[in-house]
Amino acid sequence: MADVAIRDLRKTYGGLEVIHGVDLDIPDGQFVVLVGPSGCGKSTLLRMIAGLEGITSGQIRIGDRVVNNLPPSERDIAMVFQNYALYPHKTVAANMGFALKMARMPKEEIAQRVGRAADILGLVPYLNRYPRALSGGQRQRVAMGRAIVRDPKVFLFDEPLSNLDAKLRVQMRTEIRALHLRLKTTTVYVTHDQIEAMTMADRIVVMRDGHIVQAGAPLDLYDRPVNTFVAGFIGSPA
Ligand code: ADP
Ligand code: MG
Repeated sequence: MADVAIRDLRKTYGGLEVIHGVDLDIPDGQFVVLVGPSGCGKSTLLRMIAGLEGITSGQIRIGDRVVNNLPPSERDIAMVFQNYALYPHKTVAANMGFALKMARMPKEEIAQRVGRAADILGLVPYLNRYPRALSGGQRQRVAMGRAIVRDPKVFLFDEPLSNLDAKLRVQMRTEIRALHLRLKTTTVYVTHDQIEAMTMADRIVVMRDGHIVQAGAPLDLYDRPVNTFVAGFIGSPA
């Protein structure tokens, strides 16, 4: 069964439809990259899955529950943003454990989950530091740590690397992929970067103007693009 199933999903802002009836099934454990030019609706689609944006019509199922009317906290998802907005006055450990504390999880379990995430992300030496004393890559890892500790069914990433310099971006791509191979958490990863899509995805979903143009394995899209838009975007000769 698909972990995430989206049916005829639409979004209208002020009378203007920006997501035009999207259908998408994401199998358990798959790393899906949503790619497309700026303004095509990637963030809107992701935010509707997260519950941060209401849907105009259609259906979103996560696991065995239709989540259309559930708040983000009840959707079994964790989202990592481009501006990861760490709490400046909390340590790395407190940043990572904050959502769990709010959910009244016992202290020992929070410590255990934060410790495990820190171990996975190489953050153990930094647990007592404050965000200002971290590098960009370390901050990004803390943001991922906040998602990991919640042990969600689905990770949602919205252009998480776009604020990092080119060298760090390449490194973090590899780290996020390695993390996925280790945790096998179903992931929807939004980017406008073709190279990120090609190197990270199990399956790429290409969007344009609020539609899905093509979805498939990276090499399938590269070898058999359905049109010149996909060919141009993925970089294969049309
Ligand atoms: P992407 O993430 O692919 O760059 P977005 O999902 O942010 O695209 O935006 C898709 C379309 O919806 C764009 O035309 C954008 O201007 C519009 N849009 C996004 N958010 C809002 C909003 N809160 N109010 C009105 N229009 C919006
Ligand atoms: Mg966006």
